[in-house]
Amino acid sequence: MPRIDMKKSVGLKGVNNADDVIKIKTRLIELGFDWLKADATVGPDTVSAIKLFQAIKNGFDVVNNVKNDGLVSVGGDTLRWLEAANAPKWMRMPAGSKAEGYINDEAADTSDNHDFGTDWLAETLRGAGANYRDDYLKDNATAALLRVNDSSRPRGGDTPMHAGHESGLVCDIRLPRKDGSVGGITVSDSNYDRKAMRAIIKAFRKQKLADRVLLNDSVLINEGLCRSAAGHHNHAHFEIRPPVRETD
Ligand SMILES: [Zn+2]
Repeated sequence: MPRIDMKKSVGLKGVNNADDVIKIKTRLIELGFDWLKADATVGPDTVSAIKLFQAIKNGFDVVNNVKNDGLVSVGGDTLRWLEAANAPKWMRMPAGSKAEGYINDEAADTSDNHDFGTDWLAETLRGAGANYRDDYLKDNATAALLRVNDSSRPRGGDTPMHAGHESGLVCDIRLPRKDGSVGGITVSDSNYDRKAMRAIIKAFRKQKLADRVLLNDSVLINEGLCRSAAGHHNHAHFEIRPPVRETD
């Protein structure tokens, strides 16, 4: 994988030698942080992109954390992740399809723009969709698909619509209804399709990066499939954690 031959630190309060800055920014652009330019400038956009990258590799749903210090140090963990074979890529989340078992409703939603995230999340959603299709939809053809909403904004970071959702490691899942559609209900609604929700969570939990599931469904909580959190009675919230860093 790319060996980044960096002489001095880059980023917030870094030494920021031109050669080093260009190398780091070039690598970030390659990984999808492509609003940057491969030049020698270290401004707010560069610092925010480094912080976003750090939030991702640290597994933080919020970018603004002292551990995301905006600085790439020689020999440091951020540099090692930039060089990793499985370095996180920033991307538009896949649209999904009926054939894949999941649909990303955010892709068709023009009212807000929370359609970006990591390739780690994209892979997890693809895997969960495939498992849900093969394990459940196959025998329950009229059940709702796994329907995704709200990952992160185009450049990550703060969003007024969520406390987190800043670093492309989480997304929301709309509640399946017994009529095969989704959303507009709570877990106490008679139209709520708990069987489908159970299968969706199980399919997600089969994925290697699956982490917490938040949903205020006491039956599924008792089964150990999810936990409660304020506001999570009308949608589920899926989180992933970073993989183990791979060198080649
Ligand atoms: Zn959420």
